[in-house]
Amino acid sequence: MTSPGPLAPRLPSPLQEARDPRFERHGLRLLLKRDDLIHPHLVGNKWRKLVPNIAAAGGRPLVTFGGAYSNHLRATAAAGRLLGLPTTGVVRGQELAGRPLNPSLARCAADGMRLHFVDRSTYRRKAEPETLAGILRAAGAEGAYVVPEGGSNAEAVRGCRALGAELRGHAEVVAVACGTGGTLAGLAAGLAADGRALGIPVLKGGFLEAGIQTLQERAFGARTGVWSLDDRFHFGGYARTTPELEAFARDFEQRHALPVERLYVAKLLYGLVTLAEEGAFARGSTIAAVVTGRPFPESPPAAPER
Ligand SMILES: *Cc1c(COP(=O)(O)O)cnc(C)c1O
Repeated sequence: MTSPGPLAPRLPSPLQEARDPRFERHGLRLLLKRDDLIHPHLVGNKWRKLVPNIAAAGGRPLVTFGGAYSNHLRATAAAGRLLGLPTTGVVRGQELAGRPLNPSLARCAADGMRLHFVDRSTYRRKAEPETLAGILRAAGAEGAYVVPEGGSNAEAVRGCRALGAELRGHAEVVAVACGTGGTLAGLAAGLAADGRALGIPVLKGGFLEAGIQTLQERAFGARTGVWSLDDRFHFGGYARTTPELEAFARDFEQRHALPVERLYVAKLLYGLVTLAEEGAFARGSTIAAVVTGRPFPESPPAAPER
C-alpha cells in the first residue's frame, strides 16, 4: 500500500516508557505507544484505519457516518482537505441541523466536509441497503466510497495489524480503548503468539465481543490472536465523564506530559491503573497503552510570560 504524500505518517509510532509508581510498586512497566504522533491531522488509529480505505476508494469521494463529536468524522474531513477529495459526513441527529455547529462539526465543515443530518432511527438502520441508498441519495453522495461508522471495516482492521506488529517483543499486554473495536481486532492479530490484547470499551452495553469477532472473521477469516475486554470503565457511556475521571486525566497529564484525550484514552489509562492495583497483571510484565488520539479541541498553548 502506498501512502499519499500529504498523509505520510511517522511510523512506527514512538514507544515511550512512563515511570509511574502505581505500576512500579506492582513490579510492572508501563509503555505509551504514541499513535497520537503518527500524523498531525489524521490522528492515531484514524490514520491506520482510513488510509487503507482511501486506497480502496481509488479517488472516489468519501462518505461516512458519525455522532456530533466523532473523531472519525474529523479525520475523514481532514483527509479530504489534504487530498482534495470531496467528503460527506452523515451525522446522527436531525435536531442538530438547524443549530450552530459544535467545534468538532465546525472543524469538519471548515475542512470542506458536506454535513448531512439524519434522524436517529434512520441512522440506526444505515447498514440496511435500502436505507443506505436513501441516505446517499438525499445527501447527494451516490457513487461515493462508503466508509462505515467509526471507520471499521475489513480494510481498517487489516490496517491495524501493523500496530500489533510494531509492539512484538515489547510488551506482554497491549491495551487499547474501544469504540467499534476495529483497532483491537487488528492489533490482536498483529501481536506475537505470547502477547495479548486488552480492550477497554468506552460505550456501555457489553455487546462489543461479538462485533469484534465478526470484524476479525471478515478481515482474517476467523477469530485471531488472544484478546479480551474489560467492561468496567465506560463511566456511564460514550462521552460521559465524572469529576473523578477528569481529575485522574489532569493528574496523568501532569505526571507524564501527555495530552490525554478524554473520550477514549482517559478511560483506558484509568482502567489500567485500576487493574494494576487489583493485581491483574503478573509481576515483571510490561503493559503497553495505545495512545489512540489527542484531545480536541487542543488545549491552547500556555500564555507567554509577561
Ligand atoms: C476512534 C477512536 C478509538 C476507537 O477505535 P475503534 O477502532 O472504533 O475501537 C479509540 N481512541 C480514539 C482516540 C479514537 O478517536
